[in-house]
Amino acid sequence: MAKEHEGRAVGIDLGTTYSCVAVWLDQHQRVEIIHNDQGNRTTPSFVAFNNEQRLMVMLLRINLLLTLKTLSLVNFYFYYLLLHVYAKRLTGRKFSDLVVQRDILLWPFKVISGVNDKPMITVNYKGQEKHFCAEEISSMLLTKMREVAEAYLGSPVKNAVVTVPAYFNDSQRKATIDAGTIAGLNVIRIINEPTAAAIAYGLDKRNDCDGNRNIFVFDLGGGTFDVSILTIKGDLFEVKATAGNTHLGGEDFDNRMVNYFVEELKKKNKVDIKQNPKSLRRLRTACERAKRILSFAFVTTVEVDALFMGIDFSSSITRAKFEELNMDFFNECMNIVDTCLRDSKIYKSNIDDIVLVGGSSRIPKVQELLLEFFKGKELFMGINPDEAVAYGAAVQAAILSEGFKNAPNLVLRDVTPLSLGIATYKENIMSVVIPRNTSIPVKKTNGYFTLYDNQCIVDFPVYEGERPRATDNNLLGSFRLHCLPAPRGHPLEACFSIDENGILTVTAREISTGNMNAITITNDKERLSMFDIEKMIKEAAKYHVEDMQFLRRAKVMCALDSCVYNMKNALKKNNVNLILTPQEIEKINNAITVAMNLLDKNNKEKEIDVLEGHLEDLESMSKHLISKANNFIFLG
Ligand code: AMP
Repeated sequence: MAKEHEGRAVGIDLGTTYSCVAVWLDQHQRVEIIHNDQGNRTTPSFVAFNNEQRLMVMLLRINLLLTLKTLSLVNFYFYYLLLHVYAKRLTGRKFSDLVVQRDILLWPFKVISGVNDKPMITVNYKGQEKHFCAEEISSMLLTKMREVAEAYLGSPVKNAVVTVPAYFNDSQRKATIDAGTIAGLNVIRIINEPTAAAIAYGLDKRNDCDGNRNIFVFDLGGGTFDVSILTIKGDLFEVKATAGNTHLGGEDFDNRMVNYFVEELKKKNKVDIKQNPKSLRRLRTACERAKRILSFAFVTTVEVDALFMGIDFSSSITRAKFEELNMDFFNECMNIVDTCLRDSKIYKSNIDDIVLVGGSSRIPKVQELLLEFFKGKELFMGINPDEAVAYGAAVQAAILSEGFKNAPNLVLRDVTPLSLGIATYKENIMSVVIPRNTSIPVKKTNGYFTLYDNQCIVDFPVYEGERPRATDNNLLGSFRLHCLPAPRGHPLEACFSIDENGILTVTAREISTGNMNAITITNDKERLSMFDIEKMIKEAAKYHVEDMQFLRRAKVMCALDSCVYNMKNALKKNNVNLILTPQEIEKINNAITVAMNLLDKNNKEKEIDVLEGHLEDLESMSKHLISKANNFIFLG
């Protein structure tokens, strides 16, 4: 098979809580998970802003030498924190969407309605209120992952396979491609997270099975839930069915616990912390930690000092209470499992492997319900849930790009997660053209008729979803077809085609007259226009320059700090008066005083050039001191 894309492509798991980038190593015929500049294989999906700069958590860590754990402990008093999980929950949604309205009440920053009802995240940056759409936040993370890969490969990375939750709809997939473009990446393929995990799991397994192997992937993460059933037959990885909810995951479980303690505070302390974002955020951090503990302990305490109006909060929660608070969510997970299995037409007894992916699949109750459902069949938790998705994406990237000669021979066939169709004009009935779980790529055509005599305009509202009433589903876009005057019942047709990324194009034409009028939905109003994208690319470049400047400043400050420290120590040594003249000692002391002034937190007006110039002077004095000391020891 001819490869479609030049150069080497990487696989990126743009996760809700952590992101990961991987590449196929052709020489060694294996996948390498790429370490970031901190030496970690996964990178927190965080973007933080304060009044002075945009910070990826990585940069913050270099500067303040804090680990992510301690970051959550200090609770970002000074930072506007944007968890990517929030951005991912906004991706491809409208501001007025009820789910968005419910979510933003609990978020520590403001979200407003932008053009076409697009939700815009509001932050204070450099003294100004700035608005970002979800794609921009995602693009910041994609840029970071591209840079991580480039540092490892030593060459520019242009192409990437990016993973999305299987249940992401058309707009959300397009938004992910837009985020890639803003980040300077050509997204050569979007693949579903559970499918990628199945590749990671099944790559070696395909040799040990004769005939088919049915794999059930259960992926419960921070903000999304996906299940997929795949059949591996030799080199063919065929998804049979997928189901899920892009709004169900660990964050929801945390929120339930937060609400539980908010009510407790109301009763016990007569205070309502709901209106205080900082207190809510600190309580949520403590709840998330407690939730993890409850995965191995039966009871734990939640403590937050000075949570609100000086109240030191301390309470306990049992695993049973946590389960009770979230039982409806867990049951919903199991309903989705059941739907997926029914859609796949595979009996549960014919499932060979049940693979658990995603941090929230560690919750004991979830595992218990799954075991019960699959009648005690063993659950496989052996693949690293943090890396499996990027691993599978890297394999797919290698298959698609010509830079890899020894990529595995593997054919991936995915399905579309939602039914797609047109609202029939009068009855508002969803006329499904492509049913959910149809293998993609796919092209299907349906016939329609005009309703009136001499009807010259026919509207085609395109929907996705499973509800029989079209307007209960999600409207993707609408277009018009102009026809020649003809009696009622004039035949028309609509053709739906879905590409390998799961992205839809709809065309319509008038057939009987021979006139053809085709319209394609490529850029519905949910999607960013080329103008918007270009503007965002420019802004991203601007932020990148600022980030680099911040890093340059941080590095010179660190170097200056350690130089001052070393020289102060050197001056304390007894023999310094023998090595240096009093004028030299005075000169060094003066230089140290200037450096300490520059390092002073309150001195904000320090130009990087000034800092670097002074560092150079100090370093040369240090060298002079060392060479004199060496001479002294040598002569002595
Ligand atoms: P992921 O998106 O796959 O990285 O999953 C992140 C989610 O998993 C977050 O909501 C975490 O709180 C949750 N999580 C991670 N470890 C555990 C655990 N041991 N028990 C319960 N939830 C966990």
